[in-house]
Amino acid sequence: MALISKEGPLHQQMRQWRRDLHQHPETAFEEHRTAAKVAQLLTSFGLEVHTGLAGTGVVATLQGELPGLGSIGLRADMDALNLQELNTFEHCSTNQGKMHGCGHDGHTAMLLGAAKYLSQHRNFSGSVVFIFQPAEEGEAGAQVMCEQGLFEKFKVDAVYGMHNWPGLEAGQFAVHSNAVMASMDVFDIKITGQGCHGGMPHLGVDPVVVAGQLISSLQSIIGRTLNPLESGVVSITQMQGGDAYNVVPDSVTLSGTCRAFSASVQELLESRMRIQVTNICEAFGARGELDYRRVYPSTINDPEHANICATVTSALVGADNVQLDPAPSMGAEDFSFMLQQRPGAYIWIGNGSSEGGRGLHNPHYDFNDEILPLGAQYWVNLVQSQLSENDTTA
Ligand SMILES: [Zn+2]
Ligand SMILES: [Zn+2]
Repeated sequence: MALISKEGPLHQQMRQWRRDLHQHPETAFEEHRTAAKVAQLLTSFGLEVHTGLAGTGVVATLQGELPGLGSIGLRADMDALNLQELNTFEHCSTNQGKMHGCGHDGHTAMLLGAAKYLSQHRNFSGSVVFIFQPAEEGEAGAQVMCEQGLFEKFKVDAVYGMHNWPGLEAGQFAVHSNAVMASMDVFDIKITGQGCHGGMPHLGVDPVVVAGQLISSLQSIIGRTLNPLESGVVSITQMQGGDAYNVVPDSVTLSGTCRAFSASVQELLESRMRIQVTNICEAFGARGELDYRRVYPSTINDPEHANICATVTSALVGADNVQLDPAPSMGAEDFSFMLQQRPGAYIWIGNGSSEGGRGLHNPHYDFNDEILPLGAQYWVNLVQSQLSENDTTA
């Protein structure tokens, strides 16, 4: 039974917070207004609030009234994207070129709603640590918080995350017992040949032709060296080189991203790429240099904690509305860094249809305010189930 009622006062407040955040999107490590608002609200609810982790991170703790020492962390991300919003509704972005196109405004509002509710209903034991992190979108705010001692300063037995998911019906959840999101690596390949006259290619070494060979060849890593039962992606997304019709350029740069669900596949992609870059370039008399950077590890749920999430969501919306182990996403998520430090799970909450530009990172996207009470209630029920008196006083 849902306790945070639809269209009740808390839902209306969450909608108001969410739309205010949507109007004022801020990107990686610059979430100053957002963090100030979050900290101010949490303080007004009576939580103990700590600011400054990773710059704009906000962490708040709430003690339950029942005896017990357990503690769980609940995490929301606060940052927006560098994207020009194309919506025209009243609450659309007022910051040029910035947009809450991934729904982190909604994640923040849901966790604030849960904090407010729990501050008024402390029928749990131990403590809840509310983690509002900056810079999820490619800048690894979660990693910075961990490096700055998040879990040393705030002890938690487990940590949980949630992301809205367009394409999954509103009112539904998805829970993965293992891999949820892929790892994200990025790379730059510099191919250096020898520039020359476009009409006299024999006098130089053409890096454009080498780049062509390499682009085709790199796809064979997935097709021919990866076990067909495993998954991975190699995508060249940028090519730069040359600026005249009649000049063979001196060098060409290729850039892109790799995705995987396991460290072993990640390792394979990097090592095979390195071999091909070096040797294919050499075969043409050019020089290849690979700069390969691991940005986010894959997001892997702990099966036991995923099971807890499945139980809590099933009790909330019925087992029919909880998808267990749908295909994971090739997107990436820096909650993975938190899951490397503490056991836990990251689930998806349905945001409704993804059609008509309502997918993540689309300039027409908007978080679905109808799911705010459900998301907040999930957090509340998770706390009540995990921090019940019996579990934690032993
Ligand atoms: Zn995103
Ligand atoms: Zn996101």
